[in-house]
Amino acid sequence: MNILILGSGGREHTFAWKMTQSPLCNSLFVAPGNSGTAQIAKNLDLNVTDFQAIKKAVLEHKISMVVVGPEDPLVQGIHDFFLNDKDIKHVSVIGPQKAAAELEGSKEFAKEFLVRHNIPTAAYKSFNKTNVEEGYAFLETLNPPYVLKADGLAAGKGVLILNDLNEAKTELKSMLVDAKFGEASSKVVIEEFLDGIELSCFVLTDGKNYKILPTAKDYKRIGEGDTGLNTGGMGAISPVPFATDDFLNKIEDRIVKPTIDGLKKDNLPYKGFVFIGIIKVGDDPKVIEYNVRMGDPETEVVLPRLKTDLVEIFQAIANETLDEVVIEIDERAATTVMLVSGGYPEGYEKGKEITGLENVEGSIAFHAGAIEREGKIVTSGGRVMAITSFGNTYQEAIKKSYQNIEKLHFDKMNYRKDIGFDL
Ligand code: ATP
Repeated sequence: MNILILGSGGREHTFAWKMTQSPLCNSLFVAPGNSGTAQIAKNLDLNVTDFQAIKKAVLEHKISMVVVGPEDPLVQGIHDFFLNDKDIKHVSVIGPQKAAAELEGSKEFAKEFLVRHNIPTAAYKSFNKTNVEEGYAFLETLNPPYVLKADGLAAGKGVLILNDLNEAKTELKSMLVDAKFGEASSKVVIEEFLDGIELSCFVLTDGKNYKILPTAKDYKRIGEGDTGLNTGGMGAISPVPFATDDFLNKIEDRIVKPTIDGLKKDNLPYKGFVFIGIIKVGDDPKVIEYNVRMGDPETEVVLPRLKTDLVEIFQAIANETLDEVVIEIDERAATTVMLVSGGYPEGYEKGKEITGLENVEGSIAFHAGAIEREGKIVTSGGRVMAITSFGNTYQEAIKKSYQNIEKLHFDKMNYRKDIGFDL
């Protein structure tokens, strides 16, 4: 089977790495891909939201499965686009249809879904520019810190957590009235602050059946000790040590089952990954958010632990026979450390040559913001490369990643030296 992966990050390199191990995969294409995917698949110079160009490539290369990495094409309805076009409706698309992708595309939609299906989450109310005053009044009923969320996609920047009531009111006005995040903040969800420790749960579904993948925890802030600005993610570990069997059972009973049942009841067609952001409050799990795709860098620790053939899993998702698949997991721990460009998540330079990759031993270097230019691998983004390792414990795995990172170099390379520090 010829397969196309959409995206260009470490997540997509990891998908490609895993899928090329499958005997079911003949030719693999990645659009637009990066220097890592170029080594194991064929990169296509396409924009992930240019559906007509994607259709053309699918027909030209006789592609029968499209795996969607990032959220944008899903929220814009790529799955529906394929289903509604007679030339490509036979192609399996891994990712939910537009109506279900709203779970990530609109925070208000997600909160309404959670409440409708009795899934534990923070109390909330949502506001638009016609009822800003009511928003102020609601803020006054809450205790600090105040959590303000732009309803739409805001590239991970649309959530503000503020300690001061007046500042929260000012920000609410700036989001609703002054369009701080553009159309994304035309509605704002204000919710109760939940105090706890976070983890991510990944679920595969064919719309009827589900399988739970290993948990992971990512490190979002740029600075050590989880300080400084938010990033796309600076590292991750799997499994999460505090996710005991008892806690995982609670997640399955109270969150995963009602989520999959809720999708069915609400007629939301879903074939793909459900990424559930969870916070452990006391001994109980509560949902922080849904994403309708895998996380990055969580993919770089979750997929390497998956022993089952990923293409076989995707075929079962397409055929709605996921119940027949046995998911086998490597018991070892996996960790990943993200190498980033100096200055990221603010301004940074690109085009820096990355050296030492040939010396990496016992770890996997998943390329992210890296491309090949004139025979050299150079940086092309903020998050450049994820160094993944296995170990009998996560401490052993993380040590291996750091040992290999010492062999790597690019000008102004930065990374967190404390992944797993808090566990
Ligand atoms: P991402 O970048 O992960 O997609 P997002 O912008 O979609 O995030 P959320 O995941 O909803 O937004 O929130 C971002 C972060 O803010 C969470 O990972 C969590 O740390 C924090 N957060 C969100 N909601 C709450 C809450 N109710 N209580 C405490 N912290 C929260």
